[in-house]
Amino acid sequence: VWSEVMARIMYTAGIRKKDRFQNAFGYGLFTGAHGFEKGAQKIGALVIPTSSGNTLRQLQLMKDFETTALGCTPSYAAYMAEVAEKEGYDIEKDFKLKVAMCGAEAWSDEMKRKIEEKWGISTFDNYGLTEIIGPGVSVECEEHDGLHINVDHFYVEVIDPKTGEVLEPGEKGELVFTTLTKEAFPSIRFRTKDLSILIEDECSCGRTLPRHVRLLGRADDMMKVRGVIVFPKQIEEAIMKVEGTSENYQIIKYKSGVMTQLKVKVEPDPGFKGDKNDLAKRIQDQIYGILNLKVGVEIVNIGDIPRSTGKAKRVIEE
Ligand SMILES: [Zn+2]
Repeated sequence: VWSEVMARIMYTAGIRKKDRFQNAFGYGLFTGAHGFEKGAQKIGALVIPTSSGNTLRQLQLMKDFETTALGCTPSYAAYMAEVAEKEGYDIEKDFKLKVAMCGAEAWSDEMKRKIEEKWGISTFDNYGLTEIIGPGVSVECEEHDGLHINVDHFYVEVIDPKTGEVLEPGEKGELVFTTLTKEAFPSIRFRTKDLSILIEDECSCGRTLPRHVRLLGRADDMMKVRGVIVFPKQIEEAIMKVEGTSENYQIIKYKSGVMTQLKVKVEPDPGFKGDKNDLAKRIQDQIYGILNLKVGVEIVNIGDIPRSTGKAKRVIEE
């Protein structure tokens, strides 16, 4: 079942027999890398099993093997581009990359656009979870308008996270899956805590599998700050909208008395030449525009925010 659904989602992202797939998800107990390896092999594509980390070697292999497709977390895709630039690679000339299949993190549309611009590629969001199967539950198609769900294997419902009531398509709630074909470890109505919306309209790509919108956040990522509901992804979106910012940022949650407060640390883009206070002010205004909440913004030096080769830790509690 796993190879079948993985091959299907990778084929949807345009990966074919002639492709060379660099598997930069961490090989280990995490399900990501193993699923992608099975899927690529079923398609007949070449797998370059680099695992995550060792970024210089990663880039060297990407160049030597003429990798056409990459699988990794979005934060690692952004970091690899940053290192490639720093090491003097000419991204357009030195690499043959066309697509990246990113997942395992909630990433904003702005982050997605930045990764696509930096690499000159298309990115395909995909979704899954270890408790259901690992990756392979849903994937974006070439229309990039929601993720098609493999409902012949995974029965999907969206529920109100508070009452458990089943919601209609178009209503925002928690994704719940029941496995239909998995043996040995079936899951019945598994609550994911991932928030999304089901789309039932037919997709212009012609596939009839229903879709869900890209994840809106996780129920347990939700923070309540001075009475305002905040998802980390909303802050990411605000930061990325401001010109001169990089994709390296951190959200710090701290207590001031009994109140939960937030502050944000952001690294400027390496090419940023302007005034740091002005940049901080523009980020603050953008966050205020989205959340109606004043959040302290500090512009830190390039390299101050720890980089991640797997799932990035964006929210720190102090
Ligand atoms: Zn489609």
